[in-house]
Amino acid sequence: MAAKKKTNQDCIFCQIVAGKIPASVRFEDEEMLAFDDINPHAPIHVLVIPKKHIESLTHITKQEEALMGRLIYRCRELARELNIADSGYRVTINVGRWGGQIVPHLHLHLLGGAPLTERLGMYSEAKMTIGARE
Ligand code: 5GP
Ligand code: ZN
Repeated sequence: MAAKKKTNQDCIFCQIVAGKIPASVRFEDEEMLAFDDINPHAPIHVLVIPKKHIESLTHITKQEEALMGRLIYRCRELARELNIADSGYRVTINVGRWGGQIVPHLHLHLLGGAPLTERLGMYSEAKMTIGARE
């Protein structure tokens, strides 16, 4: 199997990893980066991403199984640091077009700081029709 490209020049998140686009970084180590979402959907909205370019959850392999665990664990640590662990928070991964993924570089949303709505699986029938035609 061909080796996965580590970065993608056209990818916004790869450019953040490379320091070419500024971001409010909350955590960084050799394999991941966490930074504030530019358009927050809650008082606390942090994105946790692997540094290597992986398009989505669908694109991970068995090799990245442990990495996924560490990304989720990092959300847990950040939630504690940001004082939202006790009140509660949400960790979300949007996957692909119908999953609402806009940036094609795997990322976990850590959302909290206010009571979040229960509307987890809302969907749009209108968009479904458009999607079916694409
Ligand atoms: P998605 O819809 O793909 O799951 O979420 C992508 C998220 O990335 C969105 O919440 C959006 O606000 C955020 N985002 C897009 N471009 C940038 C950027 O240049 N910087 C930061 N910090 N966040 C971004
Ligand atoms: Zn990327």
